[in-house]
Amino acid sequence: MSLDRYHKRRDFSKIKEPVGKILKSKQSRFFIQKHAASHLHYDFRLEIEGVLKSQAVPKGPSLDPKAKRLAILVEDHPLDYGNFEGIIPKRQYGGGTVLVWDKGSWTSLDEKPLEALQKGHLRFELKGKKLLGRWDLIRLKKEKNSWFLVKYDDRFANKTKDITEDAPLSVLSDRTIDQIKENTILEASPKKKSKH
Ligand code: MN
Repeated sequence: MSLDRYHKRRDFSKIKEPVGKILKSKQSRFFIQKHAASHLHYDFRLEIEGVLKSQAVPKGPSLDPKAKRLAILVEDHPLDYGNFEGIIPKRQYGGGTVLVWDKGSWTSLDEKPLEALQKGHLRFELKGKKLLGRWDLIRLKKEKNSWFLVKYDDRFANKTKDITEDAPLSVLSDRTIDQIKENTILEASPKKKSKH
């Protein structure tokens, strides 16, 4: 079952017909965390069968369908990790500052998303606060953990806008990554004495 022919025949930037989904009711959550660790990257996480399938995207997502953003498959994360924002202590794994850069729901355009991932190509739609429309995760054949995250050319594509530059703030707290770092350190410091 595929909607490829339906999609190929329509220019969704010019019409208002539904883009169309195979899976109508199965909406799951997604999260993107900007993570200033030893190297800055964006952790792209899709809820699949009770966990967050996770990819580290060094340059972050791009709205340009021609920009293939490298995405390194990392270990599954628990669902509640997606709303984590704050500091991971320096010596711990992933030490650094984490900002929830985007969140929302996603819908698989493949009937069985886990199988699609195992086969190396997952097609999906995002309904986030920043990212919208169809996207693709495509595995590079040579290396098992190396993928591309690619924006599909629909009405949400944009060849000039740099979404990570234009929309840098947390969707949870409206803060920059530096503000999160400063606030967390202030909150943790035992400066305030009890009232008397
Ligand atoms: Mn990370």
